[in-house]
Amino acid sequence: MVEYRTPAEIEEMRPAGRFVAEVLTALRAKADVGVNLLELDALAHQMIRDRGATSCYVDYHPSFGASPFGKVLCTSVNDAVLHGLPHDYALADGDVLSLDFAVSVDGWVSDSATTVVVGTPRPEDLRLIAATEEALAAGIAAAKVGGKLGDISEAIGRVGRKAGYTINTQFGGHGVGREMHGPPHVSNDGRRNRGLPLKAGLVLAIEPWFLASTDEIYTDPDGWTLRSADGSRGAHSEHTVAITPKGPLVLTARD
Ligand code: MG
Repeated sequence: MVEYRTPAEIEEMRPAGRFVAEVLTALRAKADVGVNLLELDALAHQMIRDRGATSCYVDYHPSFGASPFGKVLCTSVNDAVLHGLPHDYALADGDVLSLDFAVSVDGWVSDSATTVVVGTPRPEDLRLIAATEEALAAGIAAAKVGGKLGDISEAIGRVGRKAGYTINTQFGGHGVGREMHGPPHVSNDGRRNRGLPLKAGLVLAIEPWFLASTDEIYTDPDGWTLRSADGSRGAHSEHTVAITPKGPLVLTARD
């Protein structure tokens, strides 16, 4: 069931969004050549403990998962694009790192992702990251009362296709509230004026992700990490957004 939050509930959701933004800002600053993915997870874990927040990932054990996730952060490097399980790997010059982080604070969840290049960037990687950021901005701009869910999907897909990427519609955004994942599914491509009417109080994780030269993925032997079928690199940008009468409110906005 799609749930709608009252204005008071959306106010209550702000601290979780601010905290997720703080953690991603700290992780972006720490990510550098030689830094281990496990150090990034440890930093996020310490910030969770200090804040008294609750990880949405550590005990996450969906039907497709071999075991609980066990970490508090997704770190997806290069050809990995989603659900990257942090492991013993030191970042190398030019690596593309996607960080995806969700926590619950005072009973409300926020979920956000960002992609950085470590060290010396390749122009094609910066272009890929910029396309996901532009698609996220376009999706957020379409998250308006009176619109339809397909407006968000179409806006994301349009940016991705124009930049020359093909769009995977299997994994996309979702409702966010007391739990990390709820309806509706927010596809990263679609048709304008189709689907669920957008009403005030709907809170969505909007999360475009693109791969450089494919839209096909496979699951790494670790049981979690999703990698591109052709080895090309991926990028991912995500915010938790509340639809309000005054327009989209980005709960996870970073300074
Ligand atoms: Mg996320």
